Amino acid sequence: MSLCEVNGIVVYYVNYGESDRIIHLYTAERGLISALARGARKPNSALLNAVQPLVYGKYVLFENKGKYTVNTCELLETFYNARIDMDKFSAAMYMTSLMNNRSHEFMRSRRLFFLLYYSLTYISYKDECVPRDIAIAFLVKVLNEHGFIPQVKICGNCGRVLLNDSLIYFEPFKGHPLCFNCKTPESVQVEPTSLEAIVRILRLNVKDVYKVKMPLRISKELFKILNTYAETVLEEKFNGEIMFYDIDVQK
Ligand SMILES: [Zn+2]
Repeated sequence: MSLCEVNGIVVYYVNYGESDRIIHLYTAERGLISALARGARKPNSALLNAVQPLVYGKYVLFENKGKYTVNTCELLETFYNARIDMDKFSAAMYMTSLMNNRSHEFMRSRRLFFLLYYSLTYISYKDECVPRDIAIAFLVKVLNEHGFIPQVKICGNCGRVLLNDSLIYFEPFKGHPLCFNCKTPESVQVEPTSLEAIVRILRLNVKDVYKVKMPLRISKELFKILNTYAETVLEEKFNGEIMFYDIDVQK
């Protein structure tokens, strides 16, 4: 058994036994890990705050044969504002559901950790930002980190450049656009602006994700196609339904 120290954000938890809790931490050092926090749900536990969703802390863990147990935690940030506003909360919950994906266990990416940290910080403290749009930019960047962002300027079937096309379709299960001649029953029509938004988000530095602002119709369209694509390639259902909790997305 050995001790290790990680900087991590709680992206998921499940209660265990009478008073234990298992937390999933996305860490700067080791990617996604799970750790058992013994007795953490007891009212007088020193770990009570360390096992809440969205909490960012410096965790000291016991490691034994690849399994972790929380020893101590120094709280660094609780992202409190993201818990008390439904727009902020739903965006934060969506982003953490994306980070609680098995694919991250094998990919230790400091970039993803900082992307999560900055995105939660902006959602919590930058009032001029649009939480939903930050979460969509987050989704684009997570896909990109996995190598799943396609080029968006060429028809995925015939290879024609979609330069001046007014009618562009997107194949959400395959993650590429199609021209009018190649559209399939599964593909959905998208505005060229939506594909342009992907390109712009990819160019943005992680620290600038708060600048992403889109018309609502573009946000809805982008989210629908990219979340479907992410659920296909990352083989998991994410917390997508809460992202547009206040809007009928079918309209
Ligand atoms: Zn085509």
